[in-house]
Amino acid sequence: MKSGQCPKCESNDIRVIALDWHRKLGASIATGIFSTAAIDHHVCVACGYTEMYVSDPGDLAGIAAKWSPPQR
Ligand SMILES: [Zn+2]
Repeated sequence: MKSGQCPKCESNDIRVIALDWHRKLGASIATGIFSTAAIDHHVCVACGYTEMYVSDPGDLAGIAAKWSPPQR
């Protein structure tokens, strides 16, 4: 999806929803008590498939420190 092509329908008609909108909507991941990582949505406007990515790769270390890996 980040390459600009939908993995489901192969359309190149992708939109990226700006992170500012997600901060307002509260769609973010806590990285600390007062800090969050914004999420970008990449939406295929041909089929509706959507992927989400942490906007700033610098936030990934904070997420790794705060959240647990999957339970097995
Ligand atoms: Zn698609």
